Amino acid sequence: MDDDPANIRMLHHALTGLGDLFLATNGREALAVADHCRPDVILLDIEMPDIDGYEVCRILKTEAGQLDTPVIFVTSHHQPSHEIRALQSGGVDFLRKPLDIPVVQARVSTHLALRNRTRQLAQARRDLTDLVDRLPAFIAVWDDQLRNLFCNDIRGQWFGREAAAMRGRHLGDVLGGANVAVLADDVGQVLAGQSRSAELRLSRPDGTPLFGQVSLVHRPAEGGATTFLMLITDVSDRKQAELALFDEKERLRITLNSIGDGVIATDTAGIVTFLNPIAEQLTGWRGVDAVGHAIETILPLQDGSDQRPLQNPIRWALKERRIVGMALNCVMQRRDGELFHVEDSAAPIIDHDGQVTGAIIVFHDVSATQAMALKMTHLANHDPLTNLPSRLLLRDRGDQALRQAQRNGSRAALFLLDIDTFKVVNNTAGYAAGDALLQDLARRLAGVLPADTTISRHGADEFAILVPDAGDTERVEHRARTILGTFGTPFDVGGHRFSLTASVGIGLYPDDSEDMDALYRHADVAIYRAKQRGGNRHCFFSKDIEQALQKRQVLEMRLREAVAAEEAFEVHFQPKVDITAGRIVGAEALARWRDSAGALVSPADFIPLADETRLIVPLGRQIFRQACRQAQLWHEEGFPLHLAVNVSPVQFAEDDLAGMIREVAQDTGFPLEKLELEITEGALIRDIEHTRRAINDLKQLGLTIAIDDFGTGHSSLAYLKRFDIDVLKIDQTFVRDMLDDPSDAAIVAAIINMASALKLRLVAEGVERPEQASALLYHGCQVMQGYLYSRPLPASQMGDLLRQDHQGLVSWRAAN
Ligand code: C2E
Ligand code: CA
Ligand code: CA
Repeated sequence: MDDDPANIRMLHHALTGLGDLFLATNGREALAVADHCRPDVILLDIEMPDIDGYEVCRILKTEAGQLDTPVIFVTSHHQPSHEIRALQSGGVDFLRKPLDIPVVQARVSTHLALRNRTRQLAQARRDLTDLVDRLPAFIAVWDDQLRNLFCNDIRGQWFGREAAAMRGRHLGDVLGGANVAVLADDVGQVLAGQSRSAELRLSRPDGTPLFGQVSLVHRPAEGGATTFLMLITDVSDRKQAELALFDEKERLRITLNSIGDGVIATDTAGIVTFLNPIAEQLTGWRGVDAVGHAIETILPLQDGSDQRPLQNPIRWALKERRIVGMALNCVMQRRDGELFHVEDSAAPIIDHDGQVTGAIIVFHDVSATQAMALKMTHLANHDPLTNLPSRLLLRDRGDQALRQAQRNGSRAALFLLDIDTFKVVNNTAGYAAGDALLQDLARRLAGVLPADTTISRHGADEFAILVPDAGDTERVEHRARTILGTFGTPFDVGGHRFSLTASVGIGLYPDDSEDMDALYRHADVAIYRAKQRGGNRHCFFSKDIEQALQKRQVLEMRLREAVAAEEAFEVHFQPKVDITAGRIVGAEALARWRDSAGALVSPADFIPLADETRLIVPLGRQIFRQACRQAQLWHEEGFPLHLAVNVSPVQFAEDDLAGMIREVAQDTGFPLEKLELEITEGALIRDIEHTRRAINDLKQLGLTIAIDDFGTGHSSLAYLKRFDIDVLKIDQTFVRDMLDDPSDAAIVAAIINMASALKLRLVAEGVERPEQASALLYHGCQVMQGYLYSRPLPASQMGDLLRQDHQGLVSWRAAN
């Protein structure tokens, strides 16, 4: 602004190129232009006709809002007072007339640059303030008295107090006393020149918790007191996540620690990183020791059946990125070497990127489970009162027993036992006494039955007894008597004494039942029958068996009576003929039983029974005595024949056979050297030591010993040599078949050869046809016994035969 056109021109000339130029020639115009174009720098001539430069400057700065616009005064005055006034009224600089163009240019340029810099600074400051204001952080400056100097929270979002209201406040008012106490140390350090950070638990204006990460920065004192800058960022989300993670980890830790399974974690290389307490127990490794070892070291697995090492499922899980189930029958070895059956499964750990970061194996000891299962099975399979097997188990064992019997061609028996009057016990002595009685009975039964027997309780007082290898029907019956025999002594229970009886029903496999069901049903039918007949007895299901056994029982009774009466037995004699010499050389005494009806009973029917019942001992003595007495009569008549007497296995096993023989020989006067004992092979080999002694004793008496039925038993050369044997009797079966069966013929020939080699005499028995006699003779056997020559004869007929033989009236030659 200048009123002098020359000056205007001059300025125009000087300033062109520095910016846009607006010129005014009076104060009013100048104000209008400034208002319109908002100049960066204003040059004002002081001396003006209307409003002078000072006034224009004042108006510009106060009323026109151009406080910051630099004003340069231009004047022709040279007194310093003018300059001072110009600067006091808001000018920044001063130019003198006449104007020096380079000076004008330099001054204006400088102020333009300054003006620009100021603008930029202002902008930067504005930007910064904006930024600070908008930062999601609380920024504040505090003095050393902890008074607020500044804060960016213009809206009061952090502490409910706007920045303006914050100023001058004490830190404690803002953060709360507790937090200030927490920060006290830090603040001290920060004022002393350091930087600190801390975490604070704050609350938002609405009361919700806020976790603040606090940074404290020292600000050096510049003139005034020391201050510090505080920056708080809201880390609630992170904190919340951390807490959640911690909770989650804690939950996981508690879960892993309280879980009943062993848990082991590994990294991707199968190196152990974690064991839970159960895994520590099961493996015998403490977590700290185990970490860093390969999973195979900590959890060695092997196959339960062949001890082959098993691949750890962790390896599969890592390799195949899938859950791997347990191997069957897997056994783990604990650190101390003990083995456990375990069930396990392993799973890979896959992170959010789908990467496998490790694996986990979960396993548990199934030994306990197995033991529990065993116990449960025992409970399910046993009667709690007597601890006897239950019906279920009996059935199982029964099926097994039947299979076994089928394989071995043997017999299985099922006995059902029912106490006849058990109710009486409960009624008079109470249930506890009844229970005690049943337990006692269970013990008694177990005491008399073999180990492979299954005894099981079914009803209250009903027992089932399964004997897998029951033997013949006689033995089964004997066992039934043994079972009933457990009732022989009274039961003392609950202060009472009970004499009881029971009934037993018997089913037999395979005789009358094809399976366990039938066996059970049939034994039940049988027990019913036993009850119907008044109890205290046993019954078989099969009527045939029962009848046969009954018959046998009757026979046994009659045999016993007959033996006691010493009258019913006769002896028949069958001659032995030497066909080369053509005369009778001896006779075999064969027992006959004349029963009450007068019929003769075959020894084949009663000798085995006599043997079983040991009645053979007194019976044998009677027969022996009769035979000797008769033979002695023939001797006295002049026929000095040999007498052969049969000795059964039971007789031979008797201690004093020799004594008995000596006594009878003395009584009857029969010479012992004319006596021959026929003993079967089976009787000889039962007890070798006894046989050796018995044969020695017998031979001392001077008698001879023949092996009866030779060839049918063991026919061992060893005992022929070992024992002092005199005669072999070739068994009837070989003689019978030798003409038709070449192998029988060969056996006969072999026996004859052997006998001659061992210098044994020979007798062939059962010779019925002349061809047999010829063949035997051809091989070298001369003494024959058989129907061809004579049937066994009563003594009187035998006497007649001896007389005829003596007179040479009989021809004994073999045919042709
Ligand atoms: P064993 O000692 O082998 O007696 C021979 C049996 O064969 C006798 O039967 C006899 O009658 C029979 N016999 C004789 N010749 C022939 C023949 O040509 N053909 C046929 N088929 N049979 C013939 P028995 O008398 O019935 O005696 C049977 C068994 O009873 C005897 O067999 C013997 O082991 C036993 N026994 C007989 N009496 C006594 C005795 O007093 N004491 C003992 N311990 N056992 C006896
Ligand atoms: Ca005989
Ligand atoms: Ca014989």
